[in-house]
Amino acid sequence: MNELKPSTHPPLFSLRGVTRSFGQIEALRGIDLDIDQGEILAIMGPSGSGKSTLLHTLAGVIPPDGGAVHYGNTALESLGETARARLRLRDFGFVFQFGQLLPDLTALDNVSLPLLLQGFKRRVALSQAASWLDRLGLADHRQALPGELSGGQAQRVAVARALVTGPKVLFADEPTGSLDSLAAENVISLLTDITRSSGTTVIIVTHDSRTASYADREVVVRDGRISGNANALRTPEGVHA
Ligand code: ADP
Ligand code: MG
Repeated sequence: MNELKPSTHPPLFSLRGVTRSFGQIEALRGIDLDIDQGEILAIMGPSGSGKSTLLHTLAGVIPPDGGAVHYGNTALESLGETARARLRLRDFGFVFQFGQLLPDLTALDNVSLPLLLQGFKRRVALSQAASWLDRLGLADHRQALPGELSGGQAQRVAVARALVTGPKVLFADEPTGSLDSLAAENVISLLTDITRSSGTTVIIVTHDSRTASYADREVVVRDGRISGNANALRTPEGVHA
């Protein structure tokens, strides 16, 4: 890594001067951030510093008040809500702190659901879902309900559900936040192994420095700003050069 050489490749995400307030609270106060295709980026920082707001702004869930968010050549603020929702469905996967699995559906049905929503036939969706559960070490738990799984197993189901559609970008907000350290390590190492091999861009909000250590780069958010010059830490050639 050479911090003096400017990077020459175009980033996948580019944020400039992004601001966002909720009433009186200035959650984001001017974010400049480039994220490379295939990069695994950890967003750290204290509680309430703006990490989740930043993640949701990147994903086009929360529109910024000011500044610009580019995803490839698309200015997210130029899209209406319907177009942004379509983009999310097509290109993005999401994992949250508490997996938000549907409690009445088996692991297999939870993972096949995004494919059914995309119009895949049930037989195809179930077989894809089963192979994703196998990859995440859950072959014996296909028919388990979320309540019958440990926290770590449930998060692995959530990871399978987020990746089953082959997203270009995986957004994860405290994906290991509810887990003990052994389960956390297991989830993050599987997640990063799989996404590195597929070249999926991953953006992880985390409090946990062990989890962040699996990323290519860490940025720290404090009071709605990124500390230091995070973009200087981009590698000159990009992740997969
Ligand atoms: P973090 O994820 O780093 O804990 P957040 O991005 O969730 O922080 O929140 C940043 C600040 O914005 C906090 O002060 C929080 O209370 C506020 N905030 C976030 N979302 C909302 C919302 N929907 N309505 C009101 N305030 C919000
Ligand atoms: Mg948060």
